[in-house]
Amino acid sequence: MKMPIYMDHNATTPVDPGVLEAMLPCFSEHFGNAASRTNPYGWVASKLVEQARSALATGIGGHPEEMVFTSGATESNNLAIKGLALALKGRREHLVTCATEHKAVLDPCAALTREGYATTVLPVDGRGCLDLVRLTDALTPGTALVSIMLANNETGTLHPIAKIAEICRERGVVLHCDATQAVGKVAVDVNELGVDLMSFSAHKIYGPKGVGALFVRRRKPRLHLVPLLDGGGHEQGMRSGTLNVPGAVGFARALEIALARMPAESARLATLRDRLEHAVTSRLEAVTVNGDAEHRLPNTVNVSFAGVDGAALLVGLEEVAVASGSACTSADPRPSHVLMAMGRSKELANASIRFSLGHGNTTEEVDVVADAVVREVMRLRTNSPLWRK
Ligand SMILES: *Cc1c(COP(=O)(O)O)cnc(C)c1O
Repeated sequence: MKMPIYMDHNATTPVDPGVLEAMLPCFSEHFGNAASRTNPYGWVASKLVEQARSALATGIGGHPEEMVFTSGATESNNLAIKGLALALKGRREHLVTCATEHKAVLDPCAALTREGYATTVLPVDGRGCLDLVRLTDALTPGTALVSIMLANNETGTLHPIAKIAEICRERGVVLHCDATQAVGKVAVDVNELGVDLMSFSAHKIYGPKGVGALFVRRRKPRLHLVPLLDGGGHEQGMRSGTLNVPGAVGFARALEIALARMPAESARLATLRDRLEHAVTSRLEAVTVNGDAEHRLPNTVNVSFAGVDGAALLVGLEEVAVASGSACTSADPRPSHVLMAMGRSKELANASIRFSLGHGNTTEEVDVVADAVVREVMRLRTNSPLWRK
């Protein structure tokens, strides 16, 4: 089977060879339990984990003591949101988030709502942007947490987190940010952003699957999180469970590599993205680019094709591996909640494709994919009753 061109890097990325190389000794040679204080196997493993923790902290401008290793951004988001909400139970039981957040943020908020918490889900405009006045108005003395992502995984739209942090700080509200898509693509510094809690994940930055981190700011009064898992009290009691040593080492190496190549790579990807976007929008009518043209990730372009059946388009586009806003391609049988929140119709959301470019992609690949998209959209429109001109 000939594999299609991979343009789904916002879903996951291949492990970088340098990451794999750093991880390999941790499986069989340095296999110790990092919590075993009684023997040198444990000491070596512990040293590797602490080096990884330092490297990750440095990469995001934090302190090693502020890093909690998790199984990925889903767990980091759950720990941040549920952990903080449960810690403030009876005192502050209101959460604020946004309609375009990842399900790993929306669903923990919904779970807490079922437990009696209140959640305000802020709307977005047609570009996926928040109204900061509305956000400010949503905050009450009972607000425990605001959770807003830095970069949207479907459209690449960037939220002004530093401004949001200022609003939260003035009102004594904790800010959590899901920065999973932003890390390694745009500058991410926890102090410049002013976030209190921040989630990110290794497998979105050419690291291994199954490892992530939550940044927990050291501040006064201390941020207390009720752990999701009870057990050996690892990670300052916030995340029990034997540490994933190869994962931690690979995650740290992945971040170092991503940051070292970010300036050149982000510029290269933005050029490729613009080339793809231009090719599709200049050669086809009735194409909508979803997202904020100015504040957007360099690697992401999400496009809706009016008058086309989304499922048929994906079937026709066998040259490329992409994601769609369509109900038919995901485990969830509804059209993209992100595109719907941006005011797209069900039909248009279904006829949307997200191209997320990455390190392996070339100009030649972009041209092949653009030709295929133009060909398929024209072919489907010719045969479509949805397309009346
Ligand atoms: C991928 C992703 C997640 C989930 O991360 P995992 O490490 O796979 O659990 C959460 N939020 C965003 C924005 C993502 O893109």
